[in-house]
Parts: sequence; C-alpha cells; structure tokens
Amino acid sequence: MNNCMILVVEDDTAVRNLIATALEMHEYHHMTATTGNEALLAVSSHNPDIVLLDLGLPDMDGVDVIQKIRTWSNVPILIISARNEDTDKIGALDAGADDYLTKPFSVDELLARLRVTQRRLAATQGMLPSSSQIFTNGDLKIDYVAGCAYIGEEELHLTPLEYKLLCLLAKNVGKVLTHTFITNELWGCSWDNEVASLRVCMATLRKKIEVPGQAQYIQTHVGIGYRMVRV
Ligand code: CA
Repeated sequence: MNNCMILVVEDDTAVRNLIATALEMHEYHHMTATTGNEALLAVSSHNPDIVLLDLGLPDMDGVDVIQKIRTWSNVPILIISARNEDTDKIGALDAGADDYLTKPFSVDELLARLRVTQRRLAATQGMLPSSSQIFTNGDLKIDYVAGCAYIGEEELHLTPLEYKLLCLLAKNVGKVLTHTFITNELWGCSWDNEVASLRVCMATLRKKIEVPGQAQYIQTHVGIGYRMVRV
C-alpha cells in the first residue's frame, strides 16, 4: 500500500466516487469531505499528505478553504475544478494551491499529478521513497535502523516516547503537526491528558536537543502544534 494519505474534497458524488475508485485501485489511502468545513476539520485532525480540492463547494469557496488551510499547514493542495478561466486558477494558486487540474480530467492525468506532488513532497522532506535510513538536519542525526539519535558525535539518551516524537517530527520536517495529530500518533487518542503529556515530553526532548534558550529544531505554533524546521 502506498503510505500517502489523500483527502478528497468534492461535493459531486459521481466525481468523488470516480476519484476514490482511482485512488483505491492505485493503493492510495484516502478520506473524503463534501464541504469546506468538513475539509478544514479533516486537514486539522488527520494531517493528510495531499489534498485534492474542488473549488465550488456548497458552504464556502475553495479559495477560502485554501487560505484557511495555509494559515497553519503546508500540505500540498491540488485543485480539481470545473472552472477553466485563468483568473480562477491564479486565484487558487495565489491563495497557496500547489497545482491545478481542470474538469473533465483523465484518471491517468490525476495520477501523474499525484506522483509529481509526492516526489516534490519527498524531496522537500528529505525522505525520498527509497530514502536512506539516516536522517540528518544540521547537527541532528537519527539512525532509524539502530534506533539512535545524535547531536554531532554525541548520542542522545532519549526515552522511547521522546525518540518516537523526534522521529515523527523528523519524518514531517517542514510541516506543522497539530497537537491532535501528534497525540494520535503517539498514544492513539487525543484528550486533555495526552496533550498535557505531549507538552511534558516536548519540554524534555527540547532540553536534550536544543541549545538552552534557542528553538533551533522545533518551533512551537501556539494553540496548533509543533514543527521541525530544516536547519
Ligand atoms: Ca463542486
């Protein structure tokens, strides 16, 4: 199975089913939303890898959806729309969409665009599909096979949870991860207890990897989550 999770936002049942079927046939994980609000909720709570977004949605304009998503997430957004005027395309791209597909489109074209987006995503995240088993970012190094992390030559003494959190941030380098996403990944749920535990775990991890008083590797996004930045 392809490990890429795709969110399909489309209110037209026939088009949604067509896309869903194509994704299933090509072994993509996917989830669907039929309104702008559902889409925003799905992006914030499930952190998909790619969003396929219809511009004409029943409750809000797709461009507004992009602008809202872009306030906290860099997830690649591929627009699928019946509109073919340049102003619509430019509007969507200016708002932060990554690519544009005009209906009617062929499934082959859609899949080709997805592959391009995945490659770009892999390149920006430094984790190409056949990626090395070593992650490096500045002085930080993670050896996934050995299950060890280092700052320079110094091996870090991390708890299993701190190591898991570090790997999760590293594998999503450049992306803001929400509290909900992180706690779901680490504990399988996201109640107040887990969010509090995440804060504690993050604080102890930072003490081990950051220079005191500096947030070189991990940024806090107040009220949203955390992001590992490329150093
Ligand atoms: Ca529509």
